[in-house]
Amino acid sequence: MSAQLKSNLAKAEKYLARFRDTLTGHWINGAPVTSTGRETFENLTPVDNTSLGRVVIGTLEDVNAAAMAAAAAFPAWRDTPGSERRRILHRFADLITARAEEIALVESMDCGQAIRFMKAAALRGAENFRFYADRAPEARDGRAQHQPEHLNYTQRTPIGPVGVITPWNTPFMLATWKIAPALACGCTVVHKPAEFSPLSAMVLAEVSKEAGVPDGVWNVVNGYGDVAGRAVTEHPDIKAIAFVGETVTGSRIMAQGAPTLKRVHFELGGKNPVIVFDDADFDRALDAVVFMIYSLNGQRCTSSSRLLLQRGLTEKFLPALEARVRNLKVGHPLDPATEVGPLVHKSHFDKVCSYVQAARDEGATVAVGGEAIKELGPGNWFRPVLFTQATNRMRIAREEIFGPALTVIPFDTEVEAVALANDSNYGLTAYIWTRDSGRGLRMAEAVEAGMVWVNSENNRNLPSPFGGVKNSGIGRDGGDYSFEFYMETKNVCIAHGTHAIPVLGR
Ligand code: NAD
Repeated sequence: MSAQLKSNLAKAEKYLARFRDTLTGHWINGAPVTSTGRETFENLTPVDNTSLGRVVIGTLEDVNAAAMAAAAAFPAWRDTPGSERRRILHRFADLITARAEEIALVESMDCGQAIRFMKAAALRGAENFRFYADRAPEARDGRAQHQPEHLNYTQRTPIGPVGVITPWNTPFMLATWKIAPALACGCTVVHKPAEFSPLSAMVLAEVSKEAGVPDGVWNVVNGYGDVAGRAVTEHPDIKAIAFVGETVTGSRIMAQGAPTLKRVHFELGGKNPVIVFDDADFDRALDAVVFMIYSLNGQRCTSSSRLLLQRGLTEKFLPALEARVRNLKVGHPLDPATEVGPLVHKSHFDKVCSYVQAARDEGATVAVGGEAIKELGPGNWFRPVLFTQATNRMRIAREEIFGPALTVIPFDTEVEAVALANDSNYGLTAYIWTRDSGRGLRMAEAVEAGMVWVNSENNRNLPSPFGGVKNSGIGRDGGDYSFEFYMETKNVCIAHGTHAIPVLGR
């Protein structure tokens, strides 16, 4: 065991002790509370499937209490000047930065993501708050539109209490990405974190209190999706649902929210293509292909899980790719040398493993990996897998595996590349590698995706829109796009007093 892993383990134990010793409850109206129900579940670490402590299972009554707190706090938070919200949210970001090490260590142990990525994710969480803090004062700004005898202007107001439902892949970062703009524009929040990774949400709630977020503005209800999550989506006081998770869950949420006419914003699954043409910068393309599927354990919505490789390049590219995948360092998530950690949960591990069998059954080649790593102990250790000799009709090319699993499919022409890329129910991202700028532009236009990167891995620019098409989502996050979702736009039309009013009944 390296000295750095030893030291990280000792620090993590210190931060985790409170979760082991005390039941993790909810956060409602500015304070930790236990559930109205008596049921709890064991929160396991994927490192060895031992318990990190027990967590309450939220009930309808718990969600009701959280939604009522959010509704009661809404008018005052809505009317708080943007400059004051800006000050509070900057303080929030400062406090996240101060606790970034704790957040990263807790998150790594809770969801198995390697510490090298979780450190950056914690700081990105602070960045999300800073970005939206700076925009809080102008969130209400509208537009002026002139007519010959009227002036129209718009103003925006926060929609009300909103529900935020998040997954387990990068729980802390994703929660901040959704919640920071909601708070910045004056909404109050009920957050339902994923049951596989509940811990960092409680740290965030504590930070909210310390930052000066008024009681009731930020609420967290733990528990399962089909009870607590469902109750958030059905509650009449909750005006909108920002959801990140699986496509099938998104469709359920849409149905659940229909009777109360919920506004929804969905960031869902993906089966994203990375298209590498013969003329690509070989080394940079190889680095990006490996990074975009094997970082974050492949548990990443924007991961490029389908490699469309132009045939002229396969002879050189495939051996280099295989060598890289074989060389990936799977290990303890708190080891700074680790590149791939254990998969989040035994059930997810089983799901990922099942695709190795599916690949074989359908005639693909398992070129590298694909098996449990027993020698690492009783955790969810999986050897990153590379599938070759695959076609786009196979399950490994069509379904989101959400693990360190890459499917390689060859193509000959640009037209074929577009057809393969678009032959998917999903449309979140696409990555294109070519030195031909004209081709880069043509491909960017032709591929069906909410986000396209040309000659780059996923590079995030916070003002730019983030979201998917087809089964990958509805709506966009980022910059002002998030405010559009969390706010209502009102149009005010004022006459100059000169226009002719139609006369009836004179
Ligand atoms: P999931 O859909 O199983 O769960 C997500 C959240 O929804 C959890 O908090 C869960 O408790 C809750 N939930 C489940 N059923 C519910 C219901 N009926 N009503 C309300 N809430 C319910 O997803 P997951 O397995 O936690 O996360 C992995 C998925 O998330 C992948 O498909 C991945 O692509 C997607 N994801 C998408 C993005 C994006 O930006 N597009 C980002 C990250 C993850």
